[in-house]
Amino acid sequence: MASSSDSDSQSKETILSRHRTAAEEVVSDHTQLYIGGEWQDAASGETFDTLDPTTGEVLASVPRGRAEDVDRAIEAAWDTYEREWSETTTSERQAVLLEIADRVEAHSEELAKLETLDNGKTLMEARIDMNTTAEQFRYFAGVVESDRGQTEDGDGYHGKVIHEPYGVVGQIIPWNFPLAMASWKLAPALAAGNCSVIKPAEQTPLSLLRLMELVDDVVPDGVVNVVTGYGEEAGAPLSKHEGVRKIAFTGSTVVGKQIMRNAADNVTDVTLELGGKSPIVVHEDADPQAAVETIAFAIFANTGECCEAGSRLFVHEDVADDVLEGLIGAAEGMTVGDPLDEATDLGPKVSHEQVERTTNYLESAREGGAEFLAGGEPPEDEALEDGCFVAPTLVEGLDHEHEAVQEEIFGPVLEVFRWEDYDEMMTLANDVDYGLAGGVITNDIEKADRTAHDIEAGYIWVNTWHEMSPGLPYGGYKQSGIGRELSVDTLDHYTQTKSIKYGLH
Ligand code: ADP
Repeated sequence: MASSSDSDSQSKETILSRHRTAAEEVVSDHTQLYIGGEWQDAASGETFDTLDPTTGEVLASVPRGRAEDVDRAIEAAWDTYEREWSETTTSERQAVLLEIADRVEAHSEELAKLETLDNGKTLMEARIDMNTTAEQFRYFAGVVESDRGQTEDGDGYHGKVIHEPYGVVGQIIPWNFPLAMASWKLAPALAAGNCSVIKPAEQTPLSLLRLMELVDDVVPDGVVNVVTGYGEEAGAPLSKHEGVRKIAFTGSTVVGKQIMRNAADNVTDVTLELGGKSPIVVHEDADPQAAVETIAFAIFANTGECCEAGSRLFVHEDVADDVLEGLIGAAEGMTVGDPLDEATDLGPKVSHEQVERTTNYLESAREGGAEFLAGGEPPEDEALEDGCFVAPTLVEGLDHEHEAVQEEIFGPVLEVFRWEDYDEMMTLANDVDYGLAGGVITNDIEKADRTAHDIEAGYIWVNTWHEMSPGLPYGGYKQSGIGRELSVDTLDHYTQTKSIKYGLH
């Protein structure tokens, strides 16, 4: 791992002053609940702090929303739905979505900086998130026009099928791609004609609040209502509420199961995008250097805080030594440090709690006999001591049954397995509860195709990773979720189907 504090741009003082200046520039005064188009405190008056994971400093205080705030938000959302939003045409909603996209683009550098401050991802990664966000609103502005329903004429009847919005939907957002994940949920929900009550993650509420400030004059009051708060206190009441007809969640599988249970009380529809433990399969013909680049990107992008990260590497014995040597070089060559510095490759994790979660798994891996090919210890750099940093880590020699292999670490940690027998390897590759994504690295189209079909997961990359395009549905097999995002199918998740049959007697 490249040391960062030897350069002036990454000294402790420089990092601190860079972050304070950036926070003054981009953290808004409006960090309250956004309900019915108004900035409001929580009914209890309580707040909590959101921290900068690079420096540990407080960025802002936000309301600690609870059930009564959720009630208020849902009431505002229904009010707007019934009075106004349910009457809108698709073209009117399309115009709103396109304007949101334009505003995101016009403020993308500011929003990216805010995301970097609140989440810790590098500025380059945050800029990609802002492009994704604008793209989502544009995409759903387009596809909503294709949702025209169908007609069916039979013996003595005329029938039609229409798709109606649920009315009010609840949306719960994770902290790893705060604004981008909010856009994945808001864009289709609004396009389909719903109002939303949305809860950002407690670690990263700022970018969504800022977006609402930027589009306050574009989105009618009450169409989007933001309730900040903790999962148990604000998220759980949202998922249990009888005024919510659909709940969409991205986050851990453990919480996803709780949300499903809560939603069951009112038979509320759910879509869930949950955890992953995705296999990367490298075949014997792969070019080791190209493989190293793809694998490093698969696991280290966004500091490993991606549900779809490639976190289990199955590398063919014929190329294993070359690939691993390259990967060790890549991991050790990464600049870990200030995510606001353009020279940084790997920013901090989002919180100390998340660092602890990763280090607990590393400890358990060590006890399980793992060999650390790279990383495994916190970066030895005084400039980073107050931040939530974890070194890029490569682990070999674990039993595939080990908890560090079976469970989602959600950090920059790759577990390596060598293989010679394809069928044995594929049995292991599929031997996890998750099935979000997977990938294959080869120049042989038949091998690529066979592996893509054999991996039990909802999204497969061939010789690339992380890239997602609107139009290719994204979502999990097995315990990685229910439903698909990023595609025309997503609109179905935000509408209910009604058949109308006219008797022609
Ligand atoms: P992580 O464990 O990685 O922090 P979570 O799945 O806990 O991820 O968090 C994702 C989102 O789910 C956050 O917005 C969080 O506040 C919310 N959340 C956590 N627990 C609950 C819960 N019991 N009910 C509803 N939402 C929750």
